[in-house]
Amino acid sequence: MIENAMSHSIMGRAIEKGLLSLNTVSLRAFSQNSYGSVDDYTYGGGAGMLIGCEPVWLAYQEALSRTERIFDEEAEGDRREEKRVRVIYTSPAGRVFNEAMAEELSREEALIILCGHYEGIDQRVLDRIVTDEISIGDYVLTGGELPALVIMDAVSRRIPGVLNNEDSAGSESFENGLLEYPQYTRPAEWRGEAVPEILLSGDHAAVDAWRLTEAKKRTGKSRPELLEKWYRNRGIF
Ligand code: SAM
Repeated sequence: MIENAMSHSIMGRAIEKGLLSLNTVSLRAFSQNSYGSVDDYTYGGGAGMLIGCEPVWLAYQEALSRTERIFDEEAEGDRREEKRVRVIYTSPAGRVFNEAMAEELSREEALIILCGHYEGIDQRVLDRIVTDEISIGDYVLTGGELPALVIMDAVSRRIPGVLNNEDSAGSESFENGLLEYPQYTRPAEWRGEAVPEILLSGDHAAVDAWRLTEAKKRTGKSRPELLEKWYRNRGIF
């Protein structure tokens, strides 16, 4: 699932160009029984199964060894030893992911992302290996693959060269604390709807002012708390 999703479009091209590399490790390969399962009943009762410690621990060792191989090729001197690879566990109980976190993670040389399933993963192995527990929002999915892909996409697009036009990473929603203003492309009139005239005026200052106003309007409507923060940061409230 991860390899397939990452093989397309911008991510696929980034991998082809060598700007990113992806390694996937299946927990099932480290099953401790002949059925290839990695889950078991939870202590204390309750519905659902939990992924046990040992398959996760062994998969982590495998992921780490592949990561270290990447470091071996790229690092100078003993830089590799100085760094602990960050291990992200995707979990609805984690900190909610945002653009600032994506930006911070994009500065790491390597990341390990651990995907849960069923009811999740035994806390002991999480305590041993996880550095960051990240949720992609206040809802529950069946597995960590989609959250991992969301994180990988948001982090990867911040890596220089991944987007064709580097500017486009800088003008998106959240970059200046506001949601992005509405955008338009050709034709200038579509089924009776015209593009706002100011955008055709060639007056860059007026276009910037219009965009700021629209971004504030949109942010106020969809995310009033962000607009409040934007004003507060400017000492306006
Ligand atoms: N028992 C867990 C709880 O209540 O917090 C939910 C487990 S969920 C059914 C199975 C797996 O999907 C989790 O271990 C996690 O990896 C992933 N997952 C589900 N929702 C997620 C979210 N909002 N953000 C990140 N990961 C999520």
